[in-house]
Amino acid sequence: MSTEQTFEQLYEQLNQVIEMLKGALGTTYLEAVYQTIENMFEGEIKQAEVAPETAKTLLTSYQTIDLADVPAEVVRRAYQLVLLKGLREDKVQTNHQMTPDSIGFIMGYLVDKLTAKTKEVTLFDPAIGTGNLLMTVHNQLKARDAINLVGVEVDDLLVSLAYAGANLQSTPIELMHQDGLGNLLINPVDAVVSDLPIGYYPNDEGAKSFTLREKEGHSFAHLLFVEQAFNYLKADGYAVLLLPSNILAGDVGKRLNAYLQQEGSLEMVLQLPDSLFAQKEAVKSIIVFRKKGSVAKPAHDVLITQLPNLSDAKKMLAIIKKLEAWFENT
Ligand code: SAM
Repeated sequence: MSTEQTFEQLYEQLNQVIEMLKGALGTTYLEAVYQTIENMFEGEIKQAEVAPETAKTLLTSYQTIDLADVPAEVVRRAYQLVLLKGLREDKVQTNHQMTPDSIGFIMGYLVDKLTAKTKEVTLFDPAIGTGNLLMTVHNQLKARDAINLVGVEVDDLLVSLAYAGANLQSTPIELMHQDGLGNLLINPVDAVVSDLPIGYYPNDEGAKSFTLREKEGHSFAHLLFVEQAFNYLKADGYAVLLLPSNILAGDVGKRLNAYLQQEGSLEMVLQLPDSLFAQKEAVKSIIVFRKKGSVAKPAHDVLITQLPNLSDAKKMLAIIKKLEAWFENT
């Protein structure tokens, strides 16, 4: 059976049992997603409202879904289709949308390269959403002794979906349902990777502990999250973040640069093609920061480049060559 067929077949199987449970409970599709996965793992129908006949049919169907030998990446792709259907059907707002694979694969490549020498690596996403990005990155890391994953998410439905997805992929993860800008009970990590929420942070009181807050009015959540990444990185650790391209310009850019001079460095800015975004102001870049280490490092170039259309294999190959050269020189 080809990998392609497997992930599509797996999607069909999952979708069928999710639809059945959704119909029986009258819930949204996404609620039925995590309830289905919970039922599958518990081996029972946990919702008392489901009629015995339906419960029996569901349990029989669960038994036909055999994940034992299916690679985690195939399961992720099937689960991604399930989530895409649910996010569309339940009309989830854009700031909560899953990170697309085209972006996740580049971020995964970067995290793999940047942490290549760390045999036991811990990755942290402070705004993990459905977990799709962190799982995409995880599944791309090569030859490690251990990969520890940590995620924080403020939305209870999304954190449940991240938990369900990790279970489906048999990937251990530490998940916390809380504000990612609060005090977090986590040890310093090797890399932070995140597609950050863009916009204002409503908690002015909470923002007070951040250098990058606004002096008046609401602060920018994405800017505070950059600082939060530094708060939880080990010395010399990297943050690979999806951020508005204009974060490095104007007054915000000046303040961010001043902060970076104290705390670390800007390493890379990969601007995504305009065609991915509806408005020009919404254009984003993958930005890589590094936290200061105990030993000063020789200065090196910041890699700033515009990415081509991500489906243009030839141009992407040229970019990968440029990235490889940068990695070799730094
Ligand atoms: N990478 C995620 C994925 O693949 O599903 C998508 C992340 S989405 C663009 C941004 C996420 O930030 C949303 O899930 C949103 O609920 C979350 N978020 C917003 N404010 C937050 C906060 N203060 N703390 C933690 N998470 C937050």
